[in-house]
Amino acid sequence: MDFSRPQLTDDDQAFLDEARTFLATHVTEEVKRRDRETGDNFDEGVHLALGAAGYLEAEWKTEADGGFSRVRRRIWELEKRRAHVPWVTWGTTAMVARSVDKFGSSELRDEVLPGVFSGHVRLCLGYTEPEGGSDVATCKTRAVRDGDSWIINGSKMFTTGAHNCQYVFLITNTDPDARKHKSLTMFLVPLNTPGIEIQGLRTVDGDRTNIVYYSDVRIDDKYRLGEVNGGWTVLREPLNVEHGAVDADPDGLQDVSIMMHQANFMAEAVDKAGAVVGRSGRIDDRAVAYRLGRAAARVEASLSAPSIFGRVALAQTMRDISPDLMDLLGSASALPIGTDGSIDEGASDYIYRFAPLVGIYGGTLEVFRNMIAQYVLGLGKPNYSPPVVKTS
Ligand SMILES: Cc1cc2nc3c(=O)[nH]c(=O)nc-3n(C[C@H](O)[C@H](O)[C@H](O)COP(=O)(O)OP(=O)(O)OC[C@H]3O[C@@H](n4cnc5c(N)ncnc54)[C@H](O)[C@@H]3O)c2cc1C
Repeated sequence: MDFSRPQLTDDDQAFLDEARTFLATHVTEEVKRRDRETGDNFDEGVHLALGAAGYLEAEWKTEADGGFSRVRRRIWELEKRRAHVPWVTWGTTAMVARSVDKFGSSELRDEVLPGVFSGHVRLCLGYTEPEGGSDVATCKTRAVRDGDSWIINGSKMFTTGAHNCQYVFLITNTDPDARKHKSLTMFLVPLNTPGIEIQGLRTVDGDRTNIVYYSDVRIDDKYRLGEVNGGWTVLREPLNVEHGAVDADPDGLQDVSIMMHQANFMAEAVDKAGAVVGRSGRIDDRAVAYRLGRAAARVEASLSAPSIFGRVALAQTMRDISPDLMDLLGSASALPIGTDGSIDEGASDYIYRFAPLVGIYGGTLEVFRNMIAQYVLGLGKPNYSPPVVKTS
């Protein structure tokens, strides 16, 4: 593996300087404070500024279509991560926009895509339902055809960002009698349609997500993506992207797994803990040095684990090392970010509360471990049936 620092051309160095200045100007301490308060992981002012400066479009498009070159894309991703740009809603928007581009009518593409690039149109994911999310195909939200329209009834759990978005990428059931993968139809539902109610939910780390109710929501057929009952074909690609089941190019200019943005918080927490311990002189205590070293080594190993292995390793590492870091730092580490007296700027407390969620959204660790067992190791499908009781 080549760990050397890449030599940037003068143009790419200028791009890096410009990106840093732009992010420092827009992602202010005030933006970060507001984001912690709302839990939105989205800031409209920053998002619109990114759109106006052309960054959203350049990020979304391939180099051949006028987007960033590979090197600039890498620079941009890393700088955004370092600057702590609120990222969730752009992530869902970019992903869903690809499905709109691929499966939407030209009328729908024209309605949606220019606004995606300017930042005025944002898109969220309406997959999970109150009765379960791991098996997304088991969908009870119904869409029934009525002439040129559809009427939708049901509810969706954890529709993150819905209150900051204009459309939801919604899985519906259009044929309850069919086999589950043949019963689904996808829609891009405008969130200002009458009959939609969005209720906020706060998670343990302070993030906000939503439950969304759909009561007799009437939308035009132009909002359908793909064929009726062909929703699984539309869904497969964004699900693969979300699950990280897409190989990184071998040029070293791409994250090797998903959830690297989240992992950055973990790497920063270890650095901050190291600085505190170093200043205190406690690094001379071999037990302290060992536990800190183990945390740092586990972070490095998880950052190098590719594809779906990385997704499991990152979340599991965050779960395992965060209590250890807090223990090393003492009770002042329980004070959250932005609190006077916090020993590590709240970094280890944040990842401690964040870690359970990182192992749930986009597919739980249990589901991912099963995927590795079944599809990579060839161990067959897990059997959850109760053990056979011998009667004689
Ligand atoms: C912060 C946050 C944000 C989210 N954002 C979104 C969003 O924007 N849009 C959206 O649609 N969803 C979102 N989700 C939902 C997320 O995708 C689901 O929570 C996740 O897929 C798990 O579904 P569930 O919570 O319904 O758990 P369930 O599927 O009910 O699972 C319950 C338990 O059973 C285990 N389990 C289930 N199936 C299996 C299996 N086959 N093998 C082994 N164990 C299994 C799970 O691991 C889990 O421990 C979000 C969730 C969180 C926490």
